[in-house]
Amino acid sequence: IPVLGFAQANVAVLGLGRSGLATARALRAGEATAVCWDDNPAARAVAEAEGFTCRDLHKQGAFDGIASLIVSPGIAHLYPSPNPVVRAALEAGVPVDNDIGLFFRSIATPEWDNFERLPRVVAVTGSNGKSTTVALLHHILSEAGKGVQMAGNIGRGVLDIDPPQDGDVVVLELSSYQTELARSLTPDVAIFTNLSPDHLDRHGGLGGYFAAKRRLFSEGGPDRAIIGVDEDEGLFLAGQMSMGQVDDRVIRVSSGRKLGGAGWNVFARKGFLSEYRKGRQAGSIDLRAMTGLPGAHNHQNACAAYAAARTLGLAPRMIEGALETYPGLPHRSQTIADEGGVRYVNDSKATNVDSAAKALSAFKKVRWICGGLEKDGGLAALSGNTGSVQKAYVIGREAAKFALQLDVETEVCSSMAVAVERAMADAQEGETVLLAPAAASFDQYDNFEQRGDDFIAEVTARLV
Ligand code: ADP
Repeated sequence: IPVLGFAQANVAVLGLGRSGLATARALRAGEATAVCWDDNPAARAVAEAEGFTCRDLHKQGAFDGIASLIVSPGIAHLYPSPNPVVRAALEAGVPVDNDIGLFFRSIATPEWDNFERLPRVVAVTGSNGKSTTVALLHHILSEAGKGVQMAGNIGRGVLDIDPPQDGDVVVLELSSYQTELARSLTPDVAIFTNLSPDHLDRHGGLGGYFAAKRRLFSEGGPDRAIIGVDEDEGLFLAGQMSMGQVDDRVIRVSSGRKLGGAGWNVFARKGFLSEYRKGRQAGSIDLRAMTGLPGAHNHQNACAAYAAARTLGLAPRMIEGALETYPGLPHRSQTIADEGGVRYVNDSKATNVDSAAKALSAFKKVRWICGGLEKDGGLAALSGNTGSVQKAYVIGREAAKFALQLDVETEVCSSMAVAVERAMADAQEGETVLLAPAAASFDQYDNFEQRGDDFIAEVTARLV
């Protein structure tokens, strides 16, 4: 979609990866001139090949005549240390924004006035469960026959989407970096899944991290806010957003707790999803047999997606049918085989302690493959969450250190292949071999997808 509001102006673009290039193209479509920079010459060459001008934004006076600086999501702007280009822009009085800010600015325009029903934007933020919630909602809305696109961290870049049609829905996955920097954040429906310490280095602590996510709920606020209230921060946010007890603007979501009160609540307990509105039960779904959504954490995601679908006018029955056919996302609670009574699950995306704890509690008896590059002070915080673990098979650079932090039987394994081999040899009928690393992948792999693929390859090679 074209970026509106900058016709004939010069807009600087810092970072020329996928989203930076999409931004430059969208600026050009809106008749603005993109002035591009990336410290990497190869990235600049790609932009130049598309006819974009590059200018060294580190140079004195680089921001003369620039209307705004658009920063790519991969660039840390303030923490752990301020980016010098961002600093130069701010010193020159140039507004700093990102593609998400441009998206909201461009989608909220009279362009759509001839539509009967305006495009609706649903934005999802939180520490864990964002992609799953977005993919679930996308699946539910597609099954209901609605025009729907996913964008942000999942799907396409926000400025890469097709121009929405009458009544379409755009579902966005937003990280805290993105919400922190965006100058416009005006979704119709905003979802906050949960909060756990992750990426704190880029926000100067948990307070900054929460504040970044919370920005989605300020600025006049969304029409509807769907808020996970299982942490105090979410509870507080929901309380602040609702104007009174009986208020349709906020839907509170919980996994594990029955939510009382006369408001609008959706919660999952013991495998059942319930919706209460004004004190009355408005919907209920049995989630227990839904293979695409194992565990209480996925039930939380189901509640959030259900609530969003309800605000968009769908009936509980329709949503239930779609939940049943949800295929799941690769690398998130992904069952890859079920053989000889042993289930094999790839949860490579469980890169932090909280998500790994959730994965461990979703299964009864677990042969747990974990480890990688340390996050959140290692695996120590997982003690007490390892009740289902029969044994841990620890891989990666910090394997020896991690092994000492765990309160279960552990074996240090020199590679994924060895870990899979050992776990498969030990696994008994009724157990689950689970990859849920609780750590980043960069010590051994390019990304978590590659790590998950390696796990799948090692398992499948041994099953045939
Ligand atoms: P995100 O996009 O926020 O990283 P994903 O949906 O990709 O979230 O899930 C990432 C990992 O977090 C999954 O592999 C799973 O282990 C875990 N997870 C998923 N949903 C939740 C949730 N609601 N709460 C806690 N952990 C979750």
